[in-house]
Amino acid sequence: MATVIDGKVVAQTIRSEIADEVRLLSQKYGKVPGLAVVIVGNRKDSQSYVGMKRKACAELGIKSFDVDLPEQISQAELIKQVHELNANTDVHGILVQLPLPKHINEEKVLSEISLEKDVDGFHPLNIGKLAMKGRDPLLLTLVSKLCDPHYTKPACLELLQRSGVTIKGKKAVVVGRSNIVGLPASLLLLKADATVTIVHSHTSQPENIIREADIVIAAAGQPKMIKGSWIKPGAAVIDVGTNAVDDPTRKSGYRLVGDVDFEEASKTAGWITPVPGGVGPMTVTMLLKNTLEGAKRYIEQNN
Ligand code: NDP
Repeated sequence: MATVIDGKVVAQTIRSEIADEVRLLSQKYGKVPGLAVVIVGNRKDSQSYVGMKRKACAELGIKSFDVDLPEQISQAELIKQVHELNANTDVHGILVQLPLPKHINEEKVLSEISLEKDVDGFHPLNIGKLAMKGRDPLLLTLVSKLCDPHYTKPACLELLQRSGVTIKGKKAVVVGRSNIVGLPASLLLLKADATVTIVHSHTSQPENIIREADIVIAAAGQPKMIKGSWIKPGAAVIDVGTNAVDDPTRKSGYRLVGDVDFEEASKTAGWITPVPGGVGPMTVTMLLKNTLEGAKRYIEQNN
């Protein structure tokens, strides 16, 4: 049976490490990290994610700058707000909650965030640097340089490494190639010296490719698509997929499942993350860690 990687426990450990560092910064330099969380409109899911992020900031002593903007705000006005946050020296990370209303070009807005404050790692230049050999992005949630303490590892990589899984020289398969999960995860595994194959919706017979993998990162958004028989014995399986499926036995009427059939795969894998309770709890934590790293870099450069 696989070792189940408990994302809640790992996230809690990292959060207490962050809180310790925040206290030290405050004592030594009289400064605390600042995270601006920008939300446009009233989408319930976005409000709930933003609420979680702001609450987590408060718990760790990170100052949260709350920017709540109306649905009708123009793109130019939103960009003006981003520029003001770029100029604010108490803000070390800027997060614009996605999706934005349809009349706003997301890529345009994200590319206006200062590279130093791009705590989500979505700036095209940061992704571009990740793709290039010998270059490294400044701040990343999903992606990062592995051996430099100034860079935050992505949730998936942090989980693998804290569980003692070797990445270098291993065969890794990433299922999904989106800009926010699959692609950066693949580039990062490549930087960590894995041999990487990317599976997407046009890949024929993905099971034959996944069966070869020592490491599987599942990020397709397809409930239980990866069967137990597709997993190589002893492989490490990180399930990013978070899919709501109908469940009349629940009060809510639904439950969350991953892209991997956990019950089957956990009999074959060496390590596996559950859904929920695996990658999910790590995501906000890594965002806070990036904010801390941004603040440390700012303080180092200005003292
Ligand atoms: P997207 O829908 O943007 O991308 C899905 C990717 O999976 C695409 O590249 C698509 O291929 C590929 N894909 C879809 N169906 C198949 C299939 N049958 N076989 C192989 N590949 C397939 O999703 P995201 O990347 O945004 O998210 C992926 C999952 O991760 C979702 O379940 C999401 O909820 C979850 N998620 C979880 C987070 C967390 O913190 N736990 C954070 C972010 C996302 P193609 O490019 O060809 O269309």
